[in-house]
Amino acid sequence: MKTELLYLNNSYLKEFEAVVVDVVGNYVTLDRTAFHPTAGGVDKDLGLLVREDVVYEVIDVVMEAGDVVKHVVRSASGLSPGAVVRGVIDWNRRYRLMRLHTASHILSAIMYRDFNALITGGHIYPEYARDDFDFERFEREVFEEAFQKVNDVVKQGLEVKIYWLPRDEALRIPGITKLAQKALPQVPHLRIVEIPGIDIQADGGPHIRNTSEIGFVRLMKVENRGKKRKRVYYTIEP
Ligand SMILES: [Zn+2]
Repeated sequence: MKTELLYLNNSYLKEFEAVVVDVVGNYVTLDRTAFHPTAGGVDKDLGLLVREDVVYEVIDVVMEAGDVVKHVVRSASGLSPGAVVRGVIDWNRRYRLMRLHTASHILSAIMYRDFNALITGGHIYPEYARDDFDFERFEREVFEEAFQKVNDVVKQGLEVKIYWLPRDEALRIPGITKLAQKALPQVPHLRIVEIPGIDIQADGGPHIRNTSEIGFVRLMKVENRGKKRKRVYYTIEP
């Protein structure tokens, strides 16, 4: 059975109630969850599952085939199907992931718009993000210019819109996936994340509501990983 993904409609949900549907070893499946698994280039959430007085520490979250989310707990002892638990997300970690993830949308949009560079991959950790671009230039000034533009967008305080569109309609939007060769899921409706005037993407991850929440985006390092592959590392402050 598919897990109901509560973060799709509310990225700000920090606590929720759910019913345990399966326990195998220390892998716990719930009927619904606000925990985001490692997916779409965004790192997993951590946190707790609480049943009455017993606290289960969530140390990993994975998405398995058929959209089933598994919460890996340190020990699942005492948990069995039918139990009602309260999930508590480690919000400091998640909020940084959301801010960095939204910053990565702005960065990839600007790299594409102004430098004709497609993003080819990346990963968002709570501490920093890295993105790879199909791009030949390697001068730090180029990337500093891009990050200055990212911060200009951040400061504009643009609303980040999240809505659903029929798949056919979504596919007609130019640049709906900036990730080169990314396959969109075969589902009737796609979740769209739009930063008006900047970026529009089909995307299943958690994002902030307004670009101003990002704070300041700081370029850390640029790495030359090949003639047409440049990797940037960046973080957010505070
Ligand atoms: Zn996204």
